[in-house]
Amino acid sequence: MLVHICCAVDSHYFLEKIQEEFPDEKLVGYFYDPNIHPYSEYRLRYLDVEYSCKKLGIPLLEGSYNLEEWLKKVKGMEHLPEKGDRCTVCYDDRLDVSVQKALELGHDKFTTSLLISPKKSQEKLEKIGDKLTQETGVNFIFRDYRSGNGGQVQGERVKENSLYRQNYCGCLFGLSAQREIQKKIMDEMFNPISNQIMPESIEERLELYQRRNDLEDAGEKYKLIKQRFLNYRLLGGKVSIAKKIVPSYIMCYSTINRNNTNGRIEYTKDGINYLNRDEVKIIDIQTFNLFAGTSYKDVKELMYKPLDFYKELEIRNLIIKNPYDLSALIVLDEIIDDKYEIEINATTYEDIKEEII
Ligand code: SF4
Repeated sequence: MLVHICCAVDSHYFLEKIQEEFPDEKLVGYFYDPNIHPYSEYRLRYLDVEYSCKKLGIPLLEGSYNLEEWLKKVKGMEHLPEKGDRCTVCYDDRLDVSVQKALELGHDKFTTSLLISPKKSQEKLEKIGDKLTQETGVNFIFRDYRSGNGGQVQGERVKENSLYRQNYCGCLFGLSAQREIQKKIMDEMFNPISNQIMPESIEERLELYQRRNDLEDAGEKYKLIKQRFLNYRLLGGKVSIAKKIVPSYIMCYSTINRNNTNGRIEYTKDGINYLNRDEVKIIDIQTFNLFAGTSYKDVKELMYKPLDFYKELEIRNLIIKNPYDLSALIVLDEIIDDKYEIEINATTYEDIKEEII
């Protein structure tokens, strides 16, 4: 039997139940989910499914990440709510490709872990599955493992196995609608040009769950815990001196009231230059190197090869000497005695992240 898998949170318990109910069946997992955006989230969910299948002793195949095809299929339905027509097309695509895979591999049965997902319509999935059975002769196995206390047991399995519990269905359309309702920044969908790994980003979660896998492999004891913290994202910024834009590196947790200011340097101490407005501090690249113990030749190099986020935060705290400070700290190639115009569009927000202890 080929089992289409959407994510480990749904598939782990679903596969356990299928194994229990079909003990003589050779099960093969099939991860085909081009609906998952961005690609880093797709990789993260795959990593988790791989870990779960390994635990269950089930071989896993990865389908292709047909993002463009998927986007074409849901064109015009971007703004429809979850469980609406876009989702029907999304189930259709995943089941259709899965049944083709089942045919190719010579399986006579197929099913999907989407059936256990609380936000998916079992009725629609059953209808699509049955239609594909008629077309191909591969039997669709419909099972409702979520009724009764299924949902609760599924949750327990997720916890026991330290699985990655994603907080959105998968596509950018569902995600943006969800974040709009939550009035929360959609930080999953953007990355700094530097590729610096930001706190509670998908990239950081990927590192965390890879570490979970390593600890599991090494048989070491660990626990995933949650931490509440103040997160930060820089959305854009620039510095002009005498009306000319200069390369600038805006250090983490830099914010400005109303997003812009202008002024002149009014005082300098220990290499730190204090603007006469809006708590802005400016240092040159040599001063940055001194504090950080680095040897950046200019700000551009720092922009494209920044320090690790937490190391940068350490340097910021060394310079500012106040862990609660949110004033702007900017690195420039040189300090010039002229008028500075500064724009920083940044946001700080309460967030929750997982950690391994
Ligand atoms: S919300 Fe989920 S099921 Fe619906 S289209 Fe997006 S990824 Fe597919």
